[in-house]
Amino acid sequence: MSKESVKITLLADNEAAPGLEKEHGFAAWIEVGGRSILFDTGHTGVLQTNAARLGVDLKQADTLVISHGHRDHTGTLAQFLAENDHAQLYFAGNIDPQRYWYSPEPDPYGMPQDSREALAALPASRVHSCNAPHYLAPGIGITGPVPRLSSFEDTGGTFYFDAERKKIDQIEDDQSMWFETDEGLVVLLGCCHSGLSNTIDYIRKISHIEQVRGVVGGMHLLQANEQRLSKTFALMTDWHAQFLIPCHCTGMESAKKMRAAVGADIVSHGHAGMVIEAGQLAA
Ligand SMILES: [Zn+2]
Ligand SMILES: [Zn+2]
Repeated sequence: MSKESVKITLLADNEAAPGLEKEHGFAAWIEVGGRSILFDTGHTGVLQTNAARLGVDLKQADTLVISHGHRDHTGTLAQFLAENDHAQLYFAGNIDPQRYWYSPEPDPYGMPQDSREALAALPASRVHSCNAPHYLAPGIGITGPVPRLSSFEDTGGTFYFDAERKKIDQIEDDQSMWFETDEGLVVLLGCCHSGLSNTIDYIRKISHIEQVRGVVGGMHLLQANEQRLSKTFALMTDWHAQFLIPCHCTGMESAKKMRAAVGADIVSHGHAGMVIEAGQLAA
C-alpha cells in the first residue's frame, strides 16, 4: 500500500510571509492522500486572499473542520460556502451561541451573522456536529469536545455567554485535529482553549499512540501565567517532538519563551504561507 504524505499549509495567521496578508485569525489547508481539507476559515478574508496568492483552490476542499465557533475561526464561513457547494462540515457540539470576549469591554466574539445563516441554510447531509472523537479516514482524526482534566489549564481568556459577565463560556466546542504518521502524532490546533496538555493527552488516549511528532496551531498562551507556561514547556520537552509551531493566539512573548525553554531547533513561529511537510500516514 502506498503511503500518504501529510502536507499542511498555513493560510491565515497573525503573522505572514512577505507578499501575504495577516490578521488575528487562523486557517490551514491540508493535503493528504488526494484529499483537501480546510481547517477553519480565518477572520476577515485573509484566507481567500492568501489562498489565491498561493494557488490554493478552496473550491476543491472536500471537508471543512471548524475548531470552534469564535469569529476569528469562522469569519469567512459564508464566503467559503458560497464558493464551495460540496464540502462536508465537521465541528464539535454547539458552535454558534452568542458569546463575548472581555478585552476589557464586552466584544461579541461568536460567529458572524452571515456565517450563522450560511451554516443554518446547509442541508443536514453536509453538517456533522460531533460530540465524540471521529476519524475522517484511517489515521486522520478530529477530537470533538476535549475533557478538561489538567489542573493548570483554562480557556486562556475572559470568555462569557452574556454581555453582563454572568455566565462563563468554557468554549466546550473547542476541538483539534490529528494525523497518525509513521513517526508519531501530528496535531493541528485552532485556539486550543481546551489546553494543550488536555488536548494531547486525549489524542494519545484515543489513538493509542504516545509519540508526538509535531504540534502546529494556536496554543492560546497569550495571557498564561508563569506557572502555566513552565508546566506547558516541561510537557513539551517530554514529548521529544520533531517540531512545535506556535501560531495565532499563542502570543509572541510566550512563543519566544517556548523557543528558549524547549529548544530553537524544535520550536519555530508559524505564519501564513508556512508549509509543513508532516510525514507519511502510518496506515
Ligand atoms: Zn478562540
Ligand atoms: Zn483564535
